[in-house]
Amino acid sequence: MNILGRIQDLFNSAADDKSVYWVFVRCDDCSEKLQTRINLYNDLSVQYDDTEDKTTYFCRKTLIGSEQCFRPIEVELTFDEQRKLIDKRIQGGQFISEEEYQSE
Ligand SMILES: [Zn+2]
Repeated sequence: MNILGRIQDLFNSAADDKSVYWVFVRCDDCSEKLQTRINLYNDLSVQYDDTEDKTTYFCRKTLIGSEQCFRPIEVELTFDEQRKLIDKRIQGGQFISEEEYQSE
């Protein structure tokens, strides 16, 4: 079985929360809270680092509020080979926790 087949198998057997990373943010301008889901197997682009022989995954998302200011919030996430988050950046908003997102 090739690598792709094995990854596909993992994906099929894994629980949903293992293949999805949720992002919760708050808009800097209007404080609207937004969420987006990132599918760790479909939404990431591979980045090879030739000098360190390392593979990382990168994802850029633009979130746009629907209630108030419609200002785009740019989110950039970097994951390691195991698809664990190792770096995150945001413009136009702040990262918040799921609890903060759920609370009023
Ligand atoms: Zn806003």
